[in-house]
Amino acid sequence: MECIFCKIIEGAIPAKLIYDHNGVIAIEDINPQAPTHLLIVPKKHFENAGEIADSDSETLAEMFKVAKELAKSHSLSGYRTIFNTGADAGQSVFHAHLHLMGGRAFGWPPG
Ligand code: AMP
Ligand code: ZN
Repeated sequence: MECIFCKIIEGAIPAKLIYDHNGVIAIEDINPQAPTHLLIVPKKHFENAGEIADSDSETLAEMFKVAKELAKSHSLSGYRTIFNTGADAGQSVFHAHLHLMGGRAFGWPPG
């Protein structure tokens, strides 16, 4: 299977690993859009957040808990968590991942 995040989890391609516990890792985004831009990724392959919710809601909750903890350890005064679902929403890697972004002010609505 040609999944870049599965390959990162297998160790076949390198990434800056920030967190690794139970079924979840966090890595630095290779093309950061904020001073802190991490990706929280389930080790098991799911295509999107809805698939995680359908089959493993515990992991979905764990991902938001990891986001909260990493925001705290990175001293973020506020942060944004984002799941893009589908190409029209900007999803480009079809292994579900939660973006954690912070360290700058964000506009609303997002582009
Ligand atoms: P999305 O567009 O929501 O699917 O997000 C995919 C994210 O993965 C983008 O922000 C990319 O910059 C990031 N990305 C792609 N390849 C890698 C990689 N090898 N290591 C870390 N982040 C990556
Ligand atoms: Zn995968």
